[in-house]
Amino acid sequence: MVVILENNATEEQINNVKKHMEDFGFRIHESAGVQRTILGAIGVKPGFDTRKIRILEGVADVYRVTSPFKLASKSFKEEKTIVKIKDVEIGGNKIAVMAGPCSVESEEQIFKLAEVVAKSGAKILRGGAFKPRSSPYSFQGMGEEGLKLMREAADKFGLLVITEVMQIDQIDLIGKYTDIFQLGARNMQNFSLLKELSLSKIPVMIKRGLAATIEEWLMSAEYVLSGGNENVILCERGIRTFETYTRNTFDLSAIPIVHKKSHLPVVADPSHATGISDQVPPMARASVAAGADALMIEIHHDPENALSDGPQALLPDTYLNLMNELRLIANAIGKTI
Ligand code: PEP
Ligand code: MN
Repeated sequence: MVVILENNATEEQINNVKKHMEDFGFRIHESAGVQRTILGAIGVKPGFDTRKIRILEGVADVYRVTSPFKLASKSFKEEKTIVKIKDVEIGGNKIAVMAGPCSVESEEQIFKLAEVVAKSGAKILRGGAFKPRSSPYSFQGMGEEGLKLMREAADKFGLLVITEVMQIDQIDLIGKYTDIFQLGARNMQNFSLLKELSLSKIPVMIKRGLAATIEEWLMSAEYVLSGGNENVILCERGIRTFETYTRNTFDLSAIPIVHKKSHLPVVADPSHATGISDQVPPMARASVAAGADALMIEIHHDPENALSDGPQALLPDTYLNLMNELRLIANAIGKTI
């Protein structure tokens, strides 16, 4: 249930409404917007007579939310969420770009690529230190050493860091080095991990699961929001279909759907979505045109010898050219990069 308060509702009236909601046994999530305050009630039983709240002073409207996600929904919060991290915003008019290698492989590699990322005008360095690999025999990441190198490289070039957290006991360690936690596609429905991340102050980017519907993906966001972490970002990274010419099928339509259903920012990851480097630039261009709030792009100076995801990595020059094209597309729809 969502309770919309009058624009001029007084503090006393708002507190009175909250008290009644608590007395009915609801958990309350407050969203104090520029115009008005909205209270989200969790735990409303079917059949509850919403007029009991509607009649209170200061209440403009009350309605039930039919979607299973509430805090992630547009009805709970109409204004778009802008996740602010230092001087970077994700969800505003400026499209954020997260670029870097799939995995941190060495000091030389991550510093070289961080320089390319900074030169391109992007503000966020991506790279995995703990890698979820399909095979136990594949490179599993450099672990803490990789986190340290990535933090140093990012700091040298004035970048933020995003890196994947795979399990609960890595949260504290990774939290010391990263600005954004990446929750990988394979962990999208790891509910205990989502619950722990909901207690963190660090923003969380939730990648869409390999076979997850948009509703399931938004329910994962709901886990993080309902635990108290409001800094949630979604990332479309392709889903499994019968198509074999690409690694995954890029669900571009997820971008406008998320914008219609939710206030949360959505990132497009054309690298994992296609898995093939020559497919990445066209899909990155399409993502900007479709309204993505940010992009995640894998790059590597020697893709043939990359320890993970080489086939989808862009060479630095290709990436730099792409960024120039993306700027033109962004301008055409009234945005910047
Ligand atoms: C990654 O970003 O390198 C990664 C493993 O992504 P995903 O979880 O989307 O497969
Ligand atoms: Mn990768």
